[in-house]
Amino acid sequence: MKFIDLSKQYTLIQNKIEYRIQQVLHHGQYIMGPEVYELEKQLTEYVGIQHCISCSSGTDALLMPLLAWGIGPGDAVFTSTFTFIATAEVISLLGATPVFIDIDKTTYNMDFHSLEDAVQKVFSAGKLKPTAVIPVDLFGLPSDYENIEAIARKYGLLVLGDTAQSFGGEINGRKCGGFGDASATSFFPTKPLGCYGDGGAIFTNDDDLATRIRSIRVHGKGTTKYDNIRIGINGRLDTIQAAILLEKLALFPEELSQRQQVADWYTQALSHKVNCQVVPEKYKSSWAQYTIVTGSTQHREEICSSLKENDIPTTIYYPRPLHLQPVFENLGYSEGSFPNAEMISKRILSLPMHPYLLEEEIYRIAEYF
Ligand SMILES: *Cc1c(COP(=O)(O)O)cnc(C)c1O
Repeated sequence: MKFIDLSKQYTLIQNKIEYRIQQVLHHGQYIMGPEVYELEKQLTEYVGIQHCISCSSGTDALLMPLLAWGIGPGDAVFTSTFTFIATAEVISLLGATPVFIDIDKTTYNMDFHSLEDAVQKVFSAGKLKPTAVIPVDLFGLPSDYENIEAIARKYGLLVLGDTAQSFGGEINGRKCGGFGDASATSFFPTKPLGCYGDGGAIFTNDDDLATRIRSIRVHGKGTTKYDNIRIGINGRLDTIQAAILLEKLALFPEELSQRQQVADWYTQALSHKVNCQVVPEKYKSSWAQYTIVTGSTQHREEICSSLKENDIPTTIYYPRPLHLQPVFENLGYSEGSFPNAEMISKRILSLPMHPYLLEEEIYRIAEYF
């Protein structure tokens, strides 16, 4: 069994994908070819938003809005301590300071009460300016945008959604990517909508922000490439990747419902044995991962090893919260700073997840719990 099986999807749409790639080879516009604009248009329609700016990776999709907002030294940017390094890395890369927030024990996403406490603390310390918050939609589950956006409005923070794992997720019929001032997603191969290399996209309804990000994506260009009006990066999505994504997007709605079905089988089989990630009412996860929390670290080890003996792969996302990573030692956090994230990291386990898992496979996995 594979943890994420990309080959079944490929066999389904192999001819279409190869035809799309061939078209790119024939027209030869490898950089910003017509497929890039076609994809951006389709993605804006899918998310229900004004602007989609495709780009080179999910990491650059996080970096570019922060750069466009002028975030840098002296700014405090709040984010979850329980996420992939990229979310916080971009904050430090710009010289700003990541301020970590604990998670909710049931959704594993940012706890909004802890966010408000942290914002107030930064204000009263008076050293840094609270500037932005990056909620992370972990494993595909949308963050509590309603409460986080209310706090952001109250304290004047910008909201950048890290929807790298949650493309396709929704709250009350509104798609992830459409919340906050801007959102960043990733098309890394194993994300819910993945290409065959690196890729990402930014979503926003802010016309001015979109214009600045489009400039930043091409070295801060003005009216032409050789008219340079700001510091930018080389942040474009390859035309070939856009061509691949167009075919994968056509299949995506069906795959999302298959993911939901797989998740339902898991929940049915496991929820009386371990804690499953809680999806609040009116929320839909894109189920990038199916993740459970065991009773103890030892319990996790027992489950892991019996699954492994039976050729069922598992992964721990994430074994160490970011506030305990050596790279952030200078920020002054320690063991005990964020009890929920620390407890969860010791017990969490992600199980095989992709749209083509069968019911009998899920029940076979559940036998080892
Ligand atoms: C994957 C991921 C990213 C980074 O995306 P890349 O495309 O790999 O750069 C950022 N944040 C989260 C939460 C992710 O899972």
